[in-house]
Order: sequence, then C-alpha cells, then structure tokens
Amino acid sequence: MNLRNLTIDAARSAVAEGKISATALAESYFAKIESDDPKIGAYLMLSKERALTKAAEVDAQVKKGEKLAPLAGVPVGIKDVLVTKGVRTTAGSKILANYIPPYDCTAVARLESAGAVVLGKLNCDEFAMGSSNENSAYKPVHNPRDLSRVPGGSSGGSAAAVAADMAVTTLGSDTGGSIRQPASFCGVIGLKPTYGRVSRYGLIAFASSLDNIGPFAKTAKDAAIMLRTIAGRDPMDSTSAEVPVPDYVVEIEKPVKGMKIGVAKEYFGEGLEPETRAAIEAAIQKLAKLGCEIVDVSLPHTKYAIPAYYLVATAEASSNLARFDGVRYGHRANSVRSLSDMYRRSRDEGFGPEVKRRIMLGTYALSAGYYDAYYLKAQRVRTLLTNDFIEAFKKVDAIVGPTCPTPAFKLGEKVDDPLAMYLADIYTVTANLAGIPGISIPVGNSKENLPIGMQIFGKHFDEATILRLAHAYEQAA
Ligand code: GLN
Repeated sequence: MNLRNLTIDAARSAVAEGKISATALAESYFAKIESDDPKIGAYLMLSKERALTKAAEVDAQVKKGEKLAPLAGVPVGIKDVLVTKGVRTTAGSKILANYIPPYDCTAVARLESAGAVVLGKLNCDEFAMGSSNENSAYKPVHNPRDLSRVPGGSSGGSAAAVAADMAVTTLGSDTGGSIRQPASFCGVIGLKPTYGRVSRYGLIAFASSLDNIGPFAKTAKDAAIMLRTIAGRDPMDSTSAEVPVPDYVVEIEKPVKGMKIGVAKEYFGEGLEPETRAAIEAAIQKLAKLGCEIVDVSLPHTKYAIPAYYLVATAEASSNLARFDGVRYGHRANSVRSLSDMYRRSRDEGFGPEVKRRIMLGTYALSAGYYDAYYLKAQRVRTLLTNDFIEAFKKVDAIVGPTCPTPAFKLGEKVDDPLAMYLADIYTVTANLAGIPGISIPVGNSKENLPIGMQIFGKHFDEATILRLAHAYEQAA
C-alpha cells in the first residue's frame, strides 16, 4: 500500500484492516524522517522507544480484534514546547538543553490515549518567540516547498513535518499566529482554538493570556478529529473552559449555504502583497459560489494590534521566563562567584538574543512609572479589539481574510530586522488578543509556487463553524 500522504482515517483503517501493522507504519515514518529531515530540520528529537511501545500496544489490540480508538496507530509529531514524560523537551532553547520532563502535557496524553504514536519533538523558535523558526537555538527549519525559505514560526517544525509527510498530523502552539502563519507558509491546515478550549497543562508558557495549543493537518477533517481529541476541561488547568465539546467530525458535514461571511477592509490594506490579495479574493468568491453571503464588516482597531500584542506578550514572557534560573534544570554557568552571579550568567548563556530582547522589553513595560503607559494601555486596546470582533460577529457567522501579508520569505531575509519580523504578524495576533478561534487553510500558490493561506475567524468557542467552512472549501476546491 501507498504510505504517503496518509490522513488520520487512512492510517487508522490501514492498521485496523491489517494492511500494515502500527509498528511497520511508525518505522516507515522514521525511515522517511531519516532520509528527508536532514535537509528540512523539522525534528529536534525522535522518541522511537515510546513510539514503538505504543505501536505494539495498538498491534496487540488489532490481533485481539478489539475496537480501535480514533487515532489508533496514527504517527504524530509534537512541538517541543509541549512536555513529554521521559523525552527531552527543550522549547528550542539551550537553557532547557538537558530537561527530561517527569510528566506529560494533557494534549499529548489525550492523543496517546486515543491511540496516537508520538514520533518525536518538533523544532520551533526558542520559547515560541518568532515568526521564521530562525530563533531556534538548535537549527533552522527549511520550508519543504522551497528549501531556501522559512517555514514560518514559531511552530515551523510542526508545519514542515506535515507538509513533508514526516507525520500524519502534529501539535503546535499559537500565542500570536504561531500555528496559522507556518501553516500558511507550508501549505497545510493550522487551527488555533478559542482561548480556554484546550488545556495548557504541560505547555511551556510564553504569554499566558495568549497561549493556545492546536493541530496542524492535511485536511479539515483531520483537524476536526485532532481538536475533538484534545479539547475540553482539564482539572490540571484552571483556565481550561467548562464548555461542552461538539463532535467536530459530524459538524463539518453540515451545509454552509446561507452562512454569512464577513470581510474586513482592515485586512486588505497597505502591505498586503497583490498576489496574496488576489488568491484570497478568489477564495472568497468560491465561498460565495457555495451559497455563503459575503458581508462587509469593520474591525477599526486592527491597526493597534501589533503594538498591543508586543507589549502584552513581552510583559507576560518576562514574568514566565523568570523561573529559568539554572537551579533545578537546564543550563547552569560554570565557576560562578555567588548565587546571583550564577543566575545572571546562566540566563545570559542560556537564552538567545530574541528571548533576551523580549525579557528586556517586557520588564521595561511592567516597571514602575511605565506600567500605566504601556501594559495597562495595551490591555485597554485589547478590549477595544475584542469588542470589534464581538460587534462584527453580531452580523456574521465567520470572518475571512489573509493569514499573512506575503508568502514565505527567504531564510535570513528578516533576521536582522526584528520590527519587520513583528509587523508580518499583523493578521494573526488579533485572534489571540481577542481569544477567538482562527484557522488557516491553503487556497492557492504564488507565481513562485509558494502556498498562500486564507484565515477564517470564528466566534468564541465556535470552532465548528470555521472547520465546517474549511471542509466545504476543501471539498469544492
Ligand atoms: N510571531 C509571534 C511572536 O514572535 C507569534 C509567536 C507565537 O504565536 N508563539 O511572538
């Protein structure tokens, strides 16, 4: 059988019907990773023992004729900011170079309980800070569609692994676009759920009021299966919401005819590359052909999203990253003079330049005398942005626009210009500030054959609608 480009259902049925064992399937993915990943760089660590143990468990179930779980035998990859018991977890940082977690992240544990086989840990920007994966302390990731380009970030490894077929599906995290932007750059689907939809127990925190865990997948149905598996209240995370989880796999089959789709002019302004604009406009036309009604909406505070995001995110990062002090685990500086010297030098040696920049910006924004002018003001702007969406969603069921202003840029193109890198997050940070769900789906290619992604925003806790639209678009395209 052809083992390439498998969806979740195809992989699971192949195992269930005995066409291939879960063990052989995992081994075929490891072989693919060993042959292709040296030029892509998606994986930081393989978890072969853990994968083969799980695969053997699934194979034993098949032999006994037991009913298989929805992800039985399905090979998955995990972004390295999600902790995995006994499997090194670095968050892409040198400061956690030797960290072997004593517990599992809830999302990973739920995937494994549903039968998934965890192949390994995926490369990312250090502590998920970045938009190109070039801030990984270990190695860059190359975009499988064009190796001279970035895969996006910070979940670059998670997007590249799905695009290069080195996992059926993967998990990433999205604080300000880190699932949707790399999905768009690599030509796959990436879903950021509503804030609170998925437990963050075991996610190494970057900015706690913005962080989310979500899936990368080849199809909307796969994204639906993944979300159904990881979503829902978890007593280990008090910010996980007590909101019922619908069966997204059933929801996506419902018709989209008559749905009202908002288009905001603020997402089609200066900086949007003409080719990307044309691809998004064509995709909107396709939704109209499917019977959706296209409605103009306004999100007037969008222009303040980047400054608000980079204040809130850095402020929260500066407090979250205070715990990395070289005492319990991670990098510790040698031959130090005192305890405070040990902290200072361990942090100086262990953190990369972008992480240090953010800790400094965030500490500044929170310091006495500046708090009101920066952090508090950013929080107020955040409320205005959220209200923009709430108002717009009184008129429409979903809002569509570009995921990014341009397709994937070249490796090295923006590394020396952090501001240019930040500005490219313009269309993605808004969903995190407002807490709403967003999905990026591939809708076309540029002249240079680079993927272009369309983003669909939904109401709080209404992932079902955006998955449904994604599915309908995919079926029609
Ligand atoms: N690019 C954004 C940043 O650098 C988003 C990061 C993320 O979502 N983790 O902060």
